[in-house]
Amino acid sequence: MEEKTYNNAAGIPCPVCKKGIIKLSLGNFLFDNKFICPYCNTKFDINKSHCGAILEKLQDLYNANKEMERLTKQSL
Ligand SMILES: [Zn+2]
Repeated sequence: MEEKTYNNAAGIPCPVCKKGIIKLSLGNFLFDNKFICPYCNTKFDINKSHCGAILEKLQDLYNANKEMERLTKQSL
């Protein structure tokens, strides 16, 4: 069960311990500045200063996803 959850979540393997999966949700990426490895607790700072254009696109994508979620819930 747990493994399935991990497989479904988008994430990158921790470069420090190579065992933890650092989950990268779009929301995390947009609104947080750091990720923490659930396995070894190493913190990773994200430098977003030189990816402005990408961030804008991601923000659009994030909004679209939210809207999609909202519509999906409504139709149920
Ligand atoms: Zn780690």
